[in-house]
Formats: sequence, C-alpha cells, structure tokens
Amino acid sequence: MFGSVIDFELGEELNTLRDRVRAFVHEVAIPAEARDRSEHGLDPGLRSELQEKAKEWGVFGPQLSEDLGGLGLDLRGSAVILEEAGYSVLGPQALNCAAPDEGNMHMLGLIATPEQRRRYLVPLAAGEIRSCFSMTEPAPGAGSDPSMLLTRAARVDGGWSVSGRKWFITGADGAAFTICMAIAEEGATMFLVDAENPGFTVERTIEATDRAFPGGHGEVVFEDCRVADDAVLGAVGEGFAYAQVRLAPARLTHCMRWLGTARRALDIALDYANEREAFGRKLGELGMIQRFIAESVIDIESSRALIWRCAWALDQGANGRHESSVAKAHVAEAVVRVVDRAVQICGALGVSGDAPLARLMNEVRPFRIYDGSTETHLWSIARRTLKARAGASR
Ligand SMILES: Cc1cc2nc3c(=O)[nH]c(=O)nc-3n(C[C@H](O)[C@H](O)[C@H](O)COP(=O)(O)OP(=O)(O)OC[C@H]3O[C@@H](n4cnc5c(N)ncnc54)[C@H](O)[C@@H]3O)c2cc1C
Repeated sequence: MFGSVIDFELGEELNTLRDRVRAFVHEVAIPAEARDRSEHGLDPGLRSELQEKAKEWGVFGPQLSEDLGGLGLDLRGSAVILEEAGYSVLGPQALNCAAPDEGNMHMLGLIATPEQRRRYLVPLAAGEIRSCFSMTEPAPGAGSDPSMLLTRAARVDGGWSVSGRKWFITGADGAAFTICMAIAEEGATMFLVDAENPGFTVERTIEATDRAFPGGHGEVVFEDCRVADDAVLGAVGEGFAYAQVRLAPARLTHCMRWLGTARRALDIALDYANEREAFGRKLGELGMIQRFIAESVIDIESSRALIWRCAWALDQGANGRHESSVAKAHVAEAVVRVVDRAVQICGALGVSGDAPLARLMNEVRPFRIYDGSTETHLWSIARRTLKARAGASR
C-alpha cells in the first residue's frame, strides 16, 4: 500500500470549491455566529436558513453522492472541504456534513435497503430531518468497551422488542429517528427507530461543555420498543461490523472539522500577537509566544498529514482501522493544544465571551473522549504494533 504515489496536489476543481467554501464560511457562517445563542445546539430555524444559503452557494453536501444532491467528493476531497467548513462551528451544520448525521448518512448509503434509503437517507441528505446514533449506555453498560452492551432486542410477533437505556446520544432531542445498537440472540444488531415510536423516549438533555450539536446530547430510553423486521439495518448479528464501517470514516470527518476549528483559534491568536504590545514590543516578538505559535503550526500540519493519509487509505478500500486510530488520537490532542495555546496568547480576552476562543475550547475538549478516547486508541495502536513486531520476528 505504501509503495504507491501520494499526491498532495488538490487540482483546480477542488481548489475552486475550497475557495467557495472559505468565502461561504466568512460571509455567511461566521456572521451568523452571533445569532447562535441556544443552549443545546443550533436552533432549527437558523440551521435551515444556513442550509438554504449553502444550497444557493453550491456548497451543500460535499460528501454526499450526486444522486442525493451532494457534490460527490471522496474522503480526500472531503478532508479539504470539511476542514474549511469547520473554521466556523456553524459551517458543518450549514453544509450538512456535521456529526452525527454525516456518519449515519455514510452508513445508510452503504447498507440501507431501497425502502430504508427512501424513508431515512433521502430526507436526511436533503437536510429535512435530523438523526442520532444510540450506542453508549450509562455504567455498567457499553462505553469504551462495546461488548458491555446491555440493551436487548428480542423477537416478537411481527418484529422485535428493544429495551435499554442510552446516554450522550448526540442530537436525540428533535431527531426524526435513531439508529439503535442492541444485542439480539444472534449478536449485536442495528435497528432504525422512529422518534414517534411510543416505546422510545428522550428523557433529558444532558448538560455538557459543548453546544455545537442541534439537540445537544440526550439520555434516551427504549422500553419494550416495538419495531417491524424491516427496521433492522443490515443483517441481524452484524451490528459491530457495521459500527466499524461507520466509525473509521466518522471519526476521521470529526478530525477534519475540528482541524478547521484549530486553524480559526490560531488565526485569532496570531491577530492578537501581531497587534498587542507588552514590555515595549509586540507579543509576537516574544520568544515564548513564538514557540506557542510554531508548536501550533506543527500540530495543525501534522494533523492534516495524518488525516489525508487516512482518507487516502480509506479511499483505496482499506478498512483504515490503524490509520484512523493514529489520526484520531493525534488530532484530538493536537486541536485541544492549539486552542489552549490560543487562549493563553490572548490573555483575559481568550477566556472571555468577547472572542470565540472560550467557546471553541468547550467545543473541542470532548473530542478527546468520543469516537474512542485517546487512551483506547493508544492502547489499540500499541497492541497492534507489538503483535506485528512479534509476528515479524518469528
Ligand atoms: C460530546 C459527546 C458526544 C457523544 N455522542 C455520542 C453519540 O451520539 N452516540 C453514542 O452512542 N455515544 C456518544 N458519546 C459517547 C462516547 O462514545 C463515550 O463517551 C465513549 O465511548 C467513552 O465511553 P464512556 O464515556 O462510558 O467512558 P468509559 O468507558 O467509562 O471510560 C472512561 C475513561 O477511561 C479511560 N479508558 C477507557 N478504556 C481504556 C483503555 N483501554 N486504556 C486506558 N484507558 C482507558 C479513558 O480515559 C476514558 O475516557 C458521546 C460522548 C460525548 C462526550
């Protein structure tokens, strides 16, 4: 795999699209940030307004296939565009390439039946509805270790009964449907559950540091939740395999968007360091500030390189498990470092509500935990590497 050529040229079309998305973010998304005041994510009115504008600008759905009204980019192209969108927390919502819908659309595109596609994927891709993904459970259920899943699915007349409790389900409040992971006799299985199903309840929206996701993060209950056989997504017993199909690209697209956020934070810090004076010179002339800046540039550029490598591997058809773990573990830590340094460079302004940095810090911090915590990724990278070496030396 590593013998073939890696090309860093973006090409004219992608460059043009990147410039258009950059202009959209500066002219539409950033000015709208002052109106984004809701506690748990962007309010539905502002989200629809931004999505309509993105359609007018021809930048809607960059990662979606053309038959779904998207721009049909592969992951390498998406890496460029989603980074640009992430420069504003409103960018990915406007372009309909934000989590969790983006990961759900990707998975539905691969495994949904034609009828599931018509009912769930088509309106999701058009931005008409939102969705969520219900996997994590409060202790003692599944968190870092998915094998601890407690939610059960039992066969009943005409379908299934799903029972269990999930939490930190992003976008649950206001989602039209959820994809629920439950254990059936045959193994982990995914079910499409409509929000209006009487057996499904969003019990509360959890207080969290971030507020970029419409609907916040919900605690949801499935109580003898009845669904028909055609609600099974993919094959019964294959849920964990499909979760991998969703997770490797989904965690990579998170990396792309948060990289844009890190760039925004650094730009704010650079503007401050170029203007603000202390001890008879600009902050940017002080060695320790220069070190912060250089380290942030290295964090951003190394993150981009790892994202592009993983995107390339996935585009070649590799499962990308290793590349996405390496990228995720590095990028999540790197973007938090970049934003934290930007806060430090800006002094009191950095922690105030006057600059968006305090908000950005609250947005990026949870990324070290979701889509696999840094520690679980480091653990699997180390185990894989040890095993490979043991195999090589035998
Ligand atoms: C903002 C946010 C949004 C989320 N959205 C969703 C969603 O939409 N749908 C969904 O299903 N879930 C979602 N989650 C849940 C997320 O997937 C879990 O938080 C994650 O899998 C970790 O599980 P846990 O929180 O139960 O942590 P635990 O499993 O309790 O782990 C706690 C800590 O233990 C450490 N740890 C765990 N394993 C290891 C190891 N092998 N080696 C060393 N240390 C280890 C890590 O530091 C970890 O952070 C979201 C979480 C957050 C914070």
